[in-house]
Amino acid sequence: MTTTITSHHFLSTCSVLGSVLDLEGGFKQDKRHHPVLQAACYLIWELKLSQMMRSKNSNKHYFTKMGSRKKVHAFVRVRPTDDFAHEMIKYRDDNKTIDIHLKKDSRRGVVNNQQTDWSFKLDRVLHDASQDLVYETVAKDVVSQALNGFNGTIMCYGQTGAGKTYTMTGATESYKHRGILPRALQQVFKMIEERPTHAITVRVSYLEIYNESLFDLLSTLPYVGPSVTPMTIVENPQGVFIKGLSVHLTSQEEDAFSLLFEGETNRIIASHTMNKNSSRSHCIFTIYVEARSRTLSDEKYVTSKINLVDLAGSERLGKSRSEGRVLKEATYINKSLSFLEQAIIALGDQKRDHIPFRQCKLTHALKDSLGGNCNMVLVTNIYGEAAQLEETLSSLRFASRMKLVTTEPTVNEKYDAERMVRNLEKELALLKQELAIHDSLANRTLVNYDPMDEIQIAEINSQVRRYLEGTLEEIDIINLRQIQEVFNQFRVVLSQQEQEVESTLRRKYTLIDKNDYAAISAVQKAGLVDADGHLVGEPDGQGFGLGVAPFSTKPGKKSKSKKMFKEQLSSSARKEGASSPLSGKDLDVSTSKTQLTPSSKDGDVKDMVVRDRETSNTEPLASDSPKEELRPPRPSTPPAKPVAFEDFKNERGSEINRIFKENKSILNERRKRASETTQRINAIKREIDMTKEALNLQKSLREKQGEYENKGLMIIDEEEFLLILKLKDLKKQYRTEYQDLRDLRAEIQYCQHLVDQCRHRLLTEFDIWYNESFFVPEDLQMAVKPGGSIRPGMMPLSKIVSLVSGTGWGWGWWTSTGQCPLPPPQA
Ligand code: ADP
Ligand code: MG
Repeated sequence: MTTTITSHHFLSTCSVLGSVLDLEGGFKQDKRHHPVLQAACYLIWELKLSQMMRSKNSNKHYFTKMGSRKKVHAFVRVRPTDDFAHEMIKYRDDNKTIDIHLKKDSRRGVVNNQQTDWSFKLDRVLHDASQDLVYETVAKDVVSQALNGFNGTIMCYGQTGAGKTYTMTGATESYKHRGILPRALQQVFKMIEERPTHAITVRVSYLEIYNESLFDLLSTLPYVGPSVTPMTIVENPQGVFIKGLSVHLTSQEEDAFSLLFEGETNRIIASHTMNKNSSRSHCIFTIYVEARSRTLSDEKYVTSKINLVDLAGSERLGKSRSEGRVLKEATYINKSLSFLEQAIIALGDQKRDHIPFRQCKLTHALKDSLGGNCNMVLVTNIYGEAAQLEETLSSLRFASRMKLVTTEPTVNEKYDAERMVRNLEKELALLKQELAIHDSLANRTLVNYDPMDEIQIAEINSQVRRYLEGTLEEIDIINLRQIQEVFNQFRVVLSQQEQEVESTLRRKYTLIDKNDYAAISAVQKAGLVDADGHLVGEPDGQGFGLGVAPFSTKPGKKSKSKKMFKEQLSSSARKEGASSPLSGKDLDVSTSKTQLTPSSKDGDVKDMVVRDRETSNTEPLASDSPKEELRPPRPSTPPAKPVAFEDFKNERGSEINRIFKENKSILNERRKRASETTQRINAIKREIDMTKEALNLQKSLREKQGEYENKGLMIIDEEEFLLILKLKDLKKQYRTEYQDLRDLRAEIQYCQHLVDQCRHRLLTEFDIWYNESFFVPEDLQMAVKPGGSIRPGMMPLSKIVSLVSGTGWGWGWWTSTGQCPLPPPQA
């Protein structure tokens, strides 16, 4: 029993909320953060969680009302005539197909490819049909669906005199021959009577479009008053509406009828006073319906509108041989009807995503009533006479195009915000009770669903810490708020730990921000990093075996390593010699991007920079310089490689180091230029795309408006011309920049090659120098010097082997650097 109730409430509330949250515009945007709504959502998920805890099969799907695709219904109504062309127009028994047969035009000569037979299959052919039957066939369903929230459109199309107005309005003086309009109003009010459970309001408006101007056929009513500004068509997420068009609430059938008569009278008067032919204008009578349930609990209500459209006569311009005002009228009509046709062709084409609704007032005003989400019906009125056969054919073609259009009728559901909050409050109370029942069934007493206080949050924090330490096995799930808070506290603990790690590092080292250029240049001067901010010896961030090794000596022996660093940094290291044995581990350079230098607390970097400069950053020492002669005796222990490397760069390696740095800075400069050029190219490309788009738009506009030609030359307007010039110019710029970039890339590749070569030479020569300086007997060194008997790097192996084994150095060091030029020692 409990489960049944629960599911019911859960489902109903979910569907209500789901719909609210899915609702476009209105409530979703404004009220989503309403506290009641949030609380309801929260409780629903709490309840879901609770259900999950009790049983695992809570996987339900909730559907929203979706419309299914539907074809437009197209009917043909044939105007009765004594002169019906039986020879040419034939109906098939299915009551749907109409065959047209045209006699060959003998004037066209012997070669005559003229088509003479057509067949059109529609939804129904209404021949000699009464107004009653027409209404039943064409309009009844559309109107009854409107009361359920579906929009509907019924349109009459055809040449003047074919019976459009007769079908739509009917013979006003004869009740029996009344048309769709009065019958639709009757049906609406009849259905309202049959639905006492709903409060249904009906409003109507009557719009006329004549020569691309909008007229309100109900503006003459005393309470409306003349409109100050001209009417405009406005679009918003809810649809299209006509700003300035009067919309009239009608509580009963009689009111609606008098509005209809008022409109019809105005239509006739206007046609006289403005000397216009009433068949040259489009008239749209709209019935707006809004249905709310009378039961308090339902906050949903549906709205819909039924557009009843009496189109202007579709006959073509050429036939009427009109001039002056009549010509202007005819042009407007031809245009708007051909735009209607274009829109319909586009709607019928599944691949088209743009429908040209805004080309004229008619299609723009009907934008949300053509295709889209409404029930749509077309009545094509035709004459059955032989003389009118050409117009009949064109009308039937229009009808068959219309038949290709599909629509997806959907209910227009809206929400009453006030009712909704009231209902949600009720639902909330109910859900709380529901939860209490669930908790007691699951023996989960004392579960609190209120927001957490500080003490509870602190407790969760402690649980998370214990869990991370491993002293707590698992964290029990209590409710949704608690789960969320556990995650929150995970985040808190994590960020605290990050901070702790960072402050520990800061206590021990000076961390240099990669963007802090002042600090970087200080350490650069100290020779700890190169121009790129990489550790010395690090090629573009990838360690290659040399670096600031002593920094990584065990943090436990802080004071000792500190001292060692200072000693090794200064060139006097060679004199004094390092006291600790040099191992492979010492040369193991971290490839980390964070640059570590000793904390200034432990030894001032600046101070060391100065000392370093004083001692070693003087004129590069040539190997045969007098200073070399003065070099103090070789230390008994060779210095660490990083330190020795510094010395090497200032001495024998100074020239190659200078070239290396020079190449590197050229490389960096080229890279920077390449990246700037790339950015410029991208910007130009973007502009080219935009210009192309604008140009296409212009072109399509031109095509739509009809192209002008002068002696075979296309005439384009200034805007388009300027765009073409701009595009040309941009393309030129693009080519130039692109060529530059290609050149730069080639240069970069070349420079990179040089830099790599220099680096390699620097390292190779350093290795040689290092070996010779510290492992070659003094007497042999003389022979290595320029002018000596041995070229540098060509040391007899046996000398070195004996030397190395003699000093008791382990092989591990050589092998770990991977640069050992020597065979392993004999056992
Ligand atoms: P349209 O609006 O297409 O120009 P109308 O509806 O004004 O044409 O019709 C022209 C004339 O033909 C009117 O006098 C109308 O009463 C008459 N008529 C049209 N269709 C029918 C019909 N089905 N039955 C009787 N009379 C009709
Ligand atoms: Mg008419």
